[in-house]
Amino acid sequence: AGLLEGRAVLVTGAAGGIGQAAAVLFANEGAQVLAADLNADGLKETAELSGGKVRTTTANVASEEEADGLIRQTIDAFGKIDGAFNNAGIEGDWGRTDESTLDNFNRVVGVNQTGVYLCMRAEIRAMLKAGKPGAIVNTASIAGIAGSMYMPAYIASKHGVVGLTKAAAMEYARKGIRVNAVCPGPIKTRMLDTLTGHHPRALEAMSDSTSMKRLGEPKEIAEAALWLLSDRSSYVTGVALPVDGGMVAG
Ligand code: NAD
Repeated sequence: AGLLEGRAVLVTGAAGGIGQAAAVLFANEGAQVLAADLNADGLKETAELSGGKVRTTTANVASEEEADGLIRQTIDAFGKIDGAFNNAGIEGDWGRTDESTLDNFNRVVGVNQTGVYLCMRAEIRAMLKAGKPGAIVNTASIAGIAGSMYMPAYIASKHGVVGLTKAAAMEYARKGIRVNAVCPGPIKTRMLDTLTGHHPRALEAMSDSTSMKRLGEPKEIAEAALWLLSDRSSYVTGVALPVDGGMVAG
């Protein structure tokens, strides 16, 4: 049997990159998956890649109403929610703090941090109501552990995700709800292409910043999220797990 056999799992940001790889992997491990994103075309691709196993829905995680709706839809579709991978995120503008705008700050924090807060709150409410154990994994970043330059809103929002993860882990451990974060290093996705301005030199620098001297594949993050969602990590909660080719270690 798969590691998530019979589990009902919500995945956000599932139209591409890490979330798409995760939705397909979780379905292959036996989960009933609801894949959510703003991008309907990408969701169609996710459903196809899963051989029709993954259900999809469009939603904006930064909206309280839509985030609540996602958890309701998961329960409507599968009768319950056992797990969630809160992964939707945006990179925002590139530039120093003194040049940055409030609009960009609010947009990035609104999706990356408030979006995780809203989804996680609704997931925890549903799990508490059901009185069953659950597991939640949030996508933070190496940028949620260490600083870096020229993306202050992103850094702040990802440190915020780590904080939300630790707080909820401690609050609900006794209820059997585990909450952890994955902290990806540089992963080959649309986001990394955008961040590096599609410059091969910048991508090379990213790759060089890891100890392994290579970029990560979306599936390598999905595998870590799978482990954190599964019972294989039954004594793990409140961690921010770097999956970064030894970037932080190096
Ligand atoms: P991506 O852009 O391919 O995926 C992000 C997905 O989130 C997109 O499909 C996008 O449509 C969706 N999304 C954005 N705003 C949304 C909203 N308001 N509501 C619903 N969906 C929304 O990039 P990715 O690299 O796969 O990113 C996934 C997560 O991984 C993000 O949280 C990102 O910050 C994080 N991350 C990525 C890297 C990397 O190097 N690629 C490194 C560290 C962390």
